[in-house]
Amino acid sequence: MPIQAFILDLDGVLTDTAEYHFRAWKRLADEEGVPFDRRANEELRGVSRRRSLELLLGQRVADYSEEQMEEMMDRKNGYYQSFLESITGDDLLPGARELIDGLKRRGLRIAIGSASKNTRIVLGKLGITEAFDGIADGHSVTRAKPAPDVFIHAAGQLGVPAVACVVVEDAASGVEAALTAGMLTVGIGPQERVGNAHFRYNSTEDTDLNEILGC
Ligand SMILES: [Mg+2]
Repeated sequence: MPIQAFILDLDGVLTDTAEYHFRAWKRLADEEGVPFDRRANEELRGVSRRRSLELLLGQRVADYSEEQMEEMMDRKNGYYQSFLESITGDDLLPGARELIDGLKRRGLRIAIGSASKNTRIVLGKLGITEAFDGIADGHSVTRAKPAPDVFIHAAGQLGVPAVACVVVEDAASGVEAALTAGMLTVGIGPQERVGNAHFRYNSTEDTDLNEILGC
């Protein structure tokens, strides 16, 4: 079946809010007296907020009640959202606009498939909301990547079967989710992270649509 649609991850593919996530988690970790650095932050790539908090706390997770976990997730998100206020169109990654334009020019439908509950805020700040025919985000499904749910939800919004969808992802968990969904998968990043994808490019800018579409 010919490819009809692309489902794009947001963070790490179209923009990079990793730095804001790092600063927000770091502030929370400092307040809780938990060691946290950029290396530990790498483990949180493409991971849900709850799982991120569990990874950040490590063995100390047992010291906290469910209520305290909820409060910390809210606190981190508050810090993150205040950082997001400063996002503009300049925060699109190199090649992101060209990728979107290239897909539109080929008459392909496009959706976002992101774990982030802030997806709509970020798209709005970037000024690209209108470009998308569907938005599947952290509010759309309960099971996070590597469950395939967010991509299946996006395909449903577009009315396109999974086998006619391409996913573009920068996280190992997202690549796994896309493969499980039965979608052609494009990994953005190093071999050791996204090497399981059908196609792999070092950056969004390097993505070759002709190669992916076999033209
Ligand atoms: Mg990502």
